[in-house]
Amino acid sequence: MTYKIHCKCERVEIALSNEPIVHAFCHCVDCRELLNIPFHSVTAWNETNVSINKGSNEIVAFQHPTLKMQKHFCKHCGEVLFNTNGLNWRVVSQLLISKCNDNELPKELASNRHFFYEQRVVDVKDDLPKYLRGTNGLLYEG
Ligand SMILES: [Zn+2]
Ligand SMILES: [Zn+2]
Repeated sequence: MTYKIHCKCERVEIALSNEPIVHAFCHCVDCRELLNIPFHSVTAWNETNVSINKGSNEIVAFQHPTLKMQKHFCKHCGEVLFNTNGLNWRVVSQLLISKCNDNELPKELASNRHFFYEQRVVDVKDDLPKYLRGTNGLLYEG
């Protein structure tokens, strides 16, 4: 499977191929700090599954001063195409994929769990597993 994303001004186009490493909601403080969002709707991809089809020279990488995270955005329209984390995953927002796919998120990319739920600033009421301290391990028993 290949998913195509682009920034608002469409100068940058990226293809995501095969399967993401994870597709989940991340409540960690680092995502929050990097992107100013309460939690992140994550699809994470191996670097090798992400190809920049157009506009690689238009992308600016911002290295966060203290976190091992980068924001990669289009220098013309400012849209964040993905961020990277300490594991060097390419983290693409489910919202961006949805916007680039007629406002519909492909079902197989929908979140199937919550990560770092202990660090949350909002409670979420759903039936998905909520991992307290990472991407597996101890579960929230709300
Ligand atoms: Zn752009
Ligand atoms: Zn996170």
